[in-house]
Amino acid sequence: MAEKHVLGISGGKDSAALAVFVRQTYPELDVDYFFTDTGKELPEVYEFLGMLEGYLGKPILRLNPKRGFDFWLREYNNFLPSAQTRWCTRKLKLAPFEQWIRPMLAAGDTVTSYVAIRADEEYREGYISKHDNLIVKLPFREAGIDKRGVMDILDSSGVGLPKYYDWRSRSGCTFCFFQQKIEWVRLKDRHPDAFDEAKLYEKNALEHGSPFTWTEGEPLGELEKPERVKQITEDYERRKQRELSKRPINPLRPVIEDRIEDIDDLYGMDEGGGACNICHK
Ligand code: SF4
Repeated sequence: MAEKHVLGISGGKDSAALAVFVRQTYPELDVDYFFTDTGKELPEVYEFLGMLEGYLGKPILRLNPKRGFDFWLREYNNFLPSAQTRWCTRKLKLAPFEQWIRPMLAAGDTVTSYVAIRADEEYREGYISKHDNLIVKLPFREAGIDKRGVMDILDSSGVGLPKYYDWRSRSGCTFCFFQQKIEWVRLKDRHPDAFDEAKLYEKNALEHGSPFTWTEGEPLGELEKPERVKQITEDYERRKQRELSKRPINPLRPVIEDRIEDIDDLYGMDEGGGACNICHK
């Protein structure tokens, strides 16, 4: 019977910072880092994983390499995942993790899973353990590390931020339905092939009777029309300015307007709200 330590990397800033923090704070622990690969990740995610592996000095295990998004899409009759029918998180994120640790638990090992919930996220819960030997730890919460603390960890370690933060506020699948409309606009701009692929998935889903489009109530073919893109961009800018004008000015930490990390709560409670810890941390 062994003691195992595992830490899930999502491709986002919080879990990357947690990996750095755990490595720095508990260098004696032999942590297995893992990434559940949906097969529909942005290229920037793989680039960031490579960077992080360089810092950690060990590979990040890729779980789920065979049964990716396309496999499960077929199983679900080509219905797109949505907030109402969120098969993607269950099948692509949770199930591979549970399958991976099952033999460890069956062998009587104790598995400690480190989860990147920050001290400023009182409202979030981590993965609820269903097994006595699976222990979930929240080191950021215990150490009082908030969003700014996460940024400091990534800056000072040299790992930095994934490049997609230049245009997108969250990690997760390329086509995630939690994406803001402005992020779909930017996906088209940055990765036009991926946007076209998303349109094909959507068309196929609608032809199979799916009631869901990627972004609620608006197929991507409508969203990409120039007048709609203009409207979405202007709406976003207005909301951003409104949000920034409400922030107190701290001379020690000036807001850098174009950095998504300073504004990624903008849409927190409407579009993009409800995104989960498993995918987006
Ligand atoms: S990132 Fe989005 S689409 Fe991907 S598994 Fe998570 S909720 Fe589903």
